[in-house]
Amino acid sequence: MALIVQKYGGTSVGSPDRIKNVAARVAKYHAKGDKIVVVVSAMSGVTDNLIKLAKEIMPLPSEREMDVLLATGEQTTIALAAIALHSLGIPAVSMTGAQAGIVTDGVHTKAKIHNITPKKVHDMLNQGKVVIVAGFQGQTPEGQITTLGRGGSDLTAIALAAALKADLCQIYTDVDGVYTTDPRIVPNAKKLAEISYDEMLELASLGAKVMQSRSVEFAKKFGVVFEVRSSLNENPGTIVKEETKSMEGVVVRGVALDKNQAKVTLVAVPDKPGVAARIFKALGDATVNVDMIVQNISHGTGTRATDLSFTVEKADLLKAQKVIEDLKKEIAFGDVITTEKIGKLSIVGVGMKSHTGVAGKMFETLANEGVNIDMISTSEIKISVVIDLAKGEAAMKAVHAAFLGS
Ligand code: ADP
Ligand code: ASP
Ligand code: MG
Repeated sequence: MALIVQKYGGTSVGSPDRIKNVAARVAKYHAKGDKIVVVVSAMSGVTDNLIKLAKEIMPLPSEREMDVLLATGEQTTIALAAIALHSLGIPAVSMTGAQAGIVTDGVHTKAKIHNITPKKVHDMLNQGKVVIVAGFQGQTPEGQITTLGRGGSDLTAIALAAALKADLCQIYTDVDGVYTTDPRIVPNAKKLAEISYDEMLELASLGAKVMQSRSVEFAKKFGVVFEVRSSLNENPGTIVKEETKSMEGVVVRGVALDKNQAKVTLVAVPDKPGVAARIFKALGDATVNVDMIVQNISHGTGTRATDLSFTVEKADLLKAQKVIEDLKKEIAFGDVITTEKIGKLSIVGVGMKSHTGVAGKMFETLANEGVNIDMISTSEIKISVVIDLAKGEAAMKAVHAAFLGS
């Protein structure tokens, strides 16, 4: 008898029929005598719609209230999934994140899990029940409702698998597994049989939304091996696990395009010690995650000044702009230019550690496509460039063809 954690994403629970399909799949495992914990997302579109409703009332709503609002999405699905299992005669019980013992810090809308005490989950499993847990949500020690960042149901599933010492962790979604790039944009993307945590982590944080990046970080930290597979067929999916020697043979494992970034440029920032520290400390204090940073000193006449550009998630742009406005008197920089019309295109592979010429080949491919590179950042296993959003998908296809075939 195995303990299995299964997570079903938004599309997989997107309608009453899809929820019945999930119940039927769970029923098969239940019939084998396995103990099953099911983590569900909100039905597809629900979270986006709730955000839209709030923003129609006020552009920067209270983050505490956003968590109270967004947590309702998953709460709807757990009850419907339990009802669907009851309709098949299977004992099932729904639990909110708090009821499942998920305790987080108090950073609303992107809370981190502090600990999980899944005693009630164990009790229910021992009574022979399927336990259905609301993804994406937790509770602070003081009892405040929190959410774990967009895509956070993945994290709920991985964290529960670690806490329950599950034998299997399966992430069911609307594609057959992790592909070399988004199969909805590049039809000849290839499904990967396996991928290392580090590669999956990079792809996820660079825009491959098939897994939430924080969930992969958690899986790596606690050694949770998991499989990404489809809720609509029985095809084998992709195993995500620790790197093996053979994985280094592949230079580029995948390509990702992040369309969710915005760029902020501060013009003529005084070039003196402490200025960058002041700016990024203020952004950090406001819990804005800054991604790429580029600073360029202008050596023209007059006072030494620098243009400073950085990228943030689109969802954080308004907050970032407010922080920057508040600093203007103190730091005395020039204009602030923002744009949402950027895309971040990245290639990822552990094999880059031992191969040369990868950046050159990527930049040449982009040049041949007439794509201008705005910002560049690299790590041992990835190269990212910021480009014009309008050219993002064409650039992605060209880079995929150059490294992974067409
Ligand atoms: P869920 O609602 O199940 O969590 P998501 O929409 O969050 O599903 O993630 C699945 C989607 O991720 C796919 O439909 C696909 O378009 C997208 N995606 C992006 N990059 C990849 C990739 N490399 N492999 C597979 N899917 C990807
Ligand atoms: N419902 C949340 C979101 O849309 C969490 C998730 O789907 O994983 O981001
Ligand atoms: Mg998701």
